[in-house]
Amino acid sequence: MADKYDYYQILGVNKNATDDEIKSAYRRMAKKYHPDLYSTKPEEERKAAEEQFKKINHAYDVLSDKQKRAAYDQYGDENGPMGGGFGGGGGAGGAGFGDFDSFFGDFFSAFTGGGRRTARPNGRIDGDDITVTITIDFMEAVRGVQKDIPISRQEQCADCKGTGAKNGTSYKTCGRCGGTGRVTTRQNTIFGQQVVQSVCPDCRGNGRIITDSCRSCGGKGSIKRSRVIHANIPAGIDNGQTITFQNEGNCGKNGGMNGNLILIVNVRPHALFKRKGYDIYFDVPISYVTATVGGEIDVPTLDGVVKYKLSEGTQTGTLCRLSGKGIKRLNSESRGDLYFTVQVQTPTGLSRTQKELLSQFEASLTPNQSPKQKKFADFIRK
Ligand SMILES: [Zn+2]
Ligand SMILES: [Zn+2]
Repeated sequence: MADKYDYYQILGVNKNATDDEIKSAYRRMAKKYHPDLYSTKPEEERKAAEEQFKKINHAYDVLSDKQKRAAYDQYGDENGPMGGGFGGGGGAGGAGFGDFDSFFGDFFSAFTGGGRRTARPNGRIDGDDITVTITIDFMEAVRGVQKDIPISRQEQCADCKGTGAKNGTSYKTCGRCGGTGRVTTRQNTIFGQQVVQSVCPDCRGNGRIITDSCRSCGGKGSIKRSRVIHANIPAGIDNGQTITFQNEGNCGKNGGMNGNLILIVNVRPHALFKRKGYDIYFDVPISYVTATVGGEIDVPTLDGVVKYKLSEGTQTGTLCRLSGKGIKRLNSESRGDLYFTVQVQTPTGLSRTQKELLSQFEASLTPNQSPKQKKFADFIRK
């Protein structure tokens, strides 16, 4: 008998989780512990992941089934008060076998590859994710923006409810596998005779054979449709970040889950502001007179131009900070900082009079008024 464990905890959801929440938690956990990811890991790690993967599948089998979940909530066991975990005696006879059967199915497909899709009993196949890239302006990323995003995806055919059979009824149970979608064969190997389960070749795991195809979808069970997804892009998003829309990807097959829609957000650079995390950097040119005597300068920020008081004797390259004037952090009200570097401008194209005035001015300076220059000159003289 299997150890008892908390199905909700295994999936990382709380007891009031909705079906959708359970579904997406299952997807997330199954992806994380999928045996494909551990095939090259050390034995111990692989076994642990395998064990966890089993538990996740079992937990999902119970929590995704209304009756089993209700029984589990009430009695702490999906088979009711007499149950003893999967394979245990008592309870509803079929339940134990069903559990075993389904997790065997998951395992089988997991170990025989089958790409990143998770094949499930009766040919349940999860839909693929869709990836879409969108480019937004710098200020849209700063403030957040709503965008309508056109996508094209496979959706379940409404006429046949995804079965591919006319009216959703024109099919019969597969004779070869009796509707289980799997066949058992015996193979002679160097280890002796082995029983191998494989996908039924007649129905390709569906468990049924279509007798009359649905006209709308041509028997595929799904139809390609154009949709517009309304995306709320949160303030603070940065170039290259993604937003996932659960279950908005291609539809699953035979009761499999929909894929996700993954939106990759590109942000156009700003003409002036450069972003590093949630901070902003840029240069501010100032006159050498302002740098010398000090004064107020205009500094652009995300919220408009502000006055900034430069102190007397500000050197070129000085880094100034406006605290909390950077970009709003994702999922938080706090903001980064704004930094600007002062660039002292050397005037060009001076008239003769201007040059004379400057020369007179320079002659009036004492070495201590330009300490860096003095130090440098002393260094050279040595
Ligand atoms: Zn079959
Ligand atoms: Zn159809």
